[in-house]
Amino acid sequence: MTQIYNDIAIIGIGLIGASAAISAKHNKLGGQIHCYDGSAQVREEAKSLRIGDVIHDDIASAVASADLVILAVPVGAMQAVMADIAPHLKSGCVITDTGSTKTSVIRDVKPSVPENCTFIAGHPLAGTEFSGPAAGFASLFDGRYWLLVPDDAPRAKTDQLSDFLAGMGALVEEMEAEYHDKIVAITSHLPHLIAYTIVGTAVDLESDLKEDVIRFSASGFRDFTRIAASDPTMWRDVFLNNDKAVLEMLQRFNEDLSYLQRAIRWHEGDKLFDLFTRTRSIRKSIIEAGQDN
Ligand code: NAP
Repeated sequence: MTQIYNDIAIIGIGLIGASAAISAKHNKLGGQIHCYDGSAQVREEAKSLRIGDVIHDDIASAVASADLVILAVPVGAMQAVMADIAPHLKSGCVITDTGSTKTSVIRDVKPSVPENCTFIAGHPLAGTEFSGPAAGFASLFDGRYWLLVPDDAPRAKTDQLSDFLAGMGALVEEMEAEYHDKIVAITSHLPHLIAYTIVGTAVDLESDLKEDVIRFSASGFRDFTRIAASDPTMWRDVFLNNDKAVLEMLQRFNEDLSYLQRAIRWHEGDKLFDLFTRTRSIRKSIIEAGQDN
């Protein structure tokens, strides 16, 4: 693989940041890979796992020589991190992020981006329920979409970033921030909200039933518990920063749920059967698109 950037800086060495560092190094996409995390414990862990080339104890030195800076912190921390790094950035560098919401990140980050640098918002549609540096792995982005919101970024800078992401195996697509937020509200954020709700409801059941819920969880519930084990800080920030799109999708979801509730009450089996047949074909399309695991 060809080297796309000289130095790369990654801020936030969790699942996504560590995976980007491991993958960029593995695919030889950068010269030196500099990493920084706000947590001293995470930095120590990243050092012992040999993630990237240099783990910095201060954010300024991590970004000083970087041609590409990747912000991989929770979306609620993007604004503060961007303000911290702004005075230390190299002229001409590109800053991107991995945040799960795009309108809020652009709103929070862009005002602090120096005039001689370019911000291109991004979001890898890849992840697991695990967090922290030890959760990172090289093939996380392989065959996964990585959505970019270039806005007014120069074409050459966007193309270079796309080449870098493709070098990690990602399928790059460009779109508008609001459109992105609506898509992920239904494909990712609402499913997480439903999983948190179902598992929360089970936890609230009295203890004897709860024990059996865990014991007999091998059916659909187990899949919800996996999703509901996702990082609480990340997901709190996602819901607070994509509130508009999530509330819109939740409104539609509630209406559809009431329709099913009514069909069950009135034993309208044909309505249930019709919906379950339509949803089955969606699963088939996802498998055909290679996005099923
Ligand atoms: P993670 O595993 O929790 O890692 C985030 C890291 O950032 C943590 O080590 C955290 O340290 C550190 N951090 C927090 N605030 C910071 C600050 N102000 N300065 C420096 N470091 C800071 O999270 P992740 O799953 O990698 O997610 C990172 C970003 O990618 C998020 O914006 C998320 O929305 C997005 N994303 C996640 C997934 C997923 O499935 N996980 C998928 C796509 C995109 P502490 O733990 O000490 O706070």
